[in-house]
Amino acid sequence: MPRIAAARVLTPDGFVGPAEVVVDGDLIVSVDPCARADDVVLAPGFVDLQVNGVDDQDCAAPDANWERLDALQHATGVTTWCPTLVTAPLEDMRARIERVPTERATIAGVHLEGPFLGGRPGAHPRDLLRPIDLEWLRALPPTVRLVTLAPELDGAAAATAELVSRGITVSLGHSAADLAAVAACVDAGARMVTHLFNGMPGLHHREPGIVGAALTDDRLVAGLIADLVHVHPTALALAFRAKPGRIALVTDAVAWRAMRIGRIEVEHRDGAPRLPDGTLAGSSLTMDAAVRNVVEQAGVALADALTAASTTPATLIGLGDRGRIEPGARADLVLLDAGLRVRATWSGGREVA
Ligand code: ZN
Repeated sequence: MPRIAAARVLTPDGFVGPAEVVVDGDLIVSVDPCARADDVVLAPGFVDLQVNGVDDQDCAAPDANWERLDALQHATGVTTWCPTLVTAPLEDMRARIERVPTERATIAGVHLEGPFLGGRPGAHPRDLLRPIDLEWLRALPPTVRLVTLAPELDGAAAATAELVSRGITVSLGHSAADLAAVAACVDAGARMVTHLFNGMPGLHHREPGIVGAALTDDRLVAGLIADLVHVHPTALALAFRAKPGRIALVTDAVAWRAMRIGRIEVEHRDGAPRLPDGTLAGSSLTMDAAVRNVVEQAGVALADALTAASTTPATLIGLGDRGRIEPGARADLVLLDAGLRVRATWSGGREVA
């Protein structure tokens, strides 16, 4: 049986090591102490809940190459991800959902970001934003895993309850909602805030809004884009301090080399993809870089950064079989060198990078 040794292995109880993880087939069977190991870190494979595309591959494109998308993800330590589809006409969104090959073990399901967004749409085309259409949401196929919607829309709490009753995780975002509207959706079952700080007003001490809710309500996991462009390192540090174990690093990556997200054209400028007017439009971030950024620039402990890149997002969307290194879990693993660069990745026990 394959054994993977590392000076530090991240388990649900924190780092142990030196230790070796024993893999049988696609599962982890044990984590055993060993005498010595290279100065490397073994962590659960990364889980990215927000990926519009990678490099030259757009998840919304009819000709998306899913083999290549998975290979690009594996190279950065990602073993599970949610292809993310942004605001488009409803019939186009439906067609895009149906093209996502959710039978792949790496793909946890689709993340719909839009078109039911509110006062801070960012790069989403404003003319395509819509009031909540409960019938359309009810008819979504079970391959949809995560939906981002805005709490200030009429019927947001009812839509949240409906989606949650079907096992879909609801995230709140692209919103200028007040605290009461956010709370109504959280009470209805919303459990995430989409890319905290981006697509929402900043924290105001008299009207704390969605940022205030995200930072203080322990029911909410906060997504964070740690490319150092979307969010200042000090705000990254604040989020990690306010929400121990409740941060999900996301890349919000787009096919920036193809210069498009669906029909939205982007250009790469000043460290990120943008609309011609400078509005940020996703990122060119990779998850391994996100981990390095929060450790090196925001002073986040490595175990907390790795948990935010794996265990927390896996648990949030109900993936009980992965996101942790323990006996019985799926052998999705990433081996990082001392500089936190990806040295190898395993998906279901198979070395894929
Ligand atoms: Zn967004």
